[in-house]
Amino acid sequence: MFRAVILDFDWTFNTSRMYYARFDEVSFEVLAERFGCSAAEAERKMQEVKEKTLSLTSAMRYIGLDSDEFYDEVASRMDICSLLTEDTRLKEVVLVIRGMSLKVAMLTNSGRSLLKRALDALGCPFEHFDFVVTSSEVEPKPSLEPFRHTAELLRCDPEEVLYVGDRISSELKPAKQVGMKTVLIGSDSHNEESRWIDWALPDIYQLPDLVRSLQ
Ligand SMILES: [Mg+2]
Repeated sequence: MFRAVILDFDWTFNTSRMYYARFDEVSFEVLAERFGCSAAEAERKMQEVKEKTLSLTSAMRYIGLDSDEFYDEVASRMDICSLLTEDTRLKEVVLVIRGMSLKVAMLTNSGRSLLKRALDALGCPFEHFDFVVTSSEVEPKPSLEPFRHTAELLRCDPEEVLYVGDRISSELKPAKQVGMKTVLIGSDSHNEESRWIDWALPDIYQLPDLVRSLQ
């Protein structure tokens, strides 16, 4: 019996291609300024490190950049309101699950300022969640720490938590390693990694039905 659901943000809750195309553009622009190189070189450098660290945020920390400062800068340069529009179905996903007496948290590697602006634009602000945990407060995924920390905030054992995300090696695997059950959103699926996936859904909108069937 589950008592809480933890949702990832990037490519799980928000899947706007336009938003991520602009995010990449701005990110490499900001990183290029920090490194004193071209945006293309910054992208190459980050890709190399990301192969080791499995996420952009942990790659930044690995090379000694302040990821919080980076996300603040990216947030200030992105015109989020022109990239994301309100999607009432997202708010419904959260409220329907909370209506089943489950707690809902968001756990993202994004920084708090960028996430706040994105969730406001999508019409599902922080107050709809029981907890919002970002890389401004905890180590980024795939570290096990943010999973344990969020379960503690929810006052749940990991075994009582359903983790919902789009990346197997950097999210579902660590979630399962701490004892949570996992839902894969989208198609990041490889046979050899299927042991980290308990359920798979094409998109987040199907989640309330799945959660209901597990109650
Ligand atoms: Mg994601």
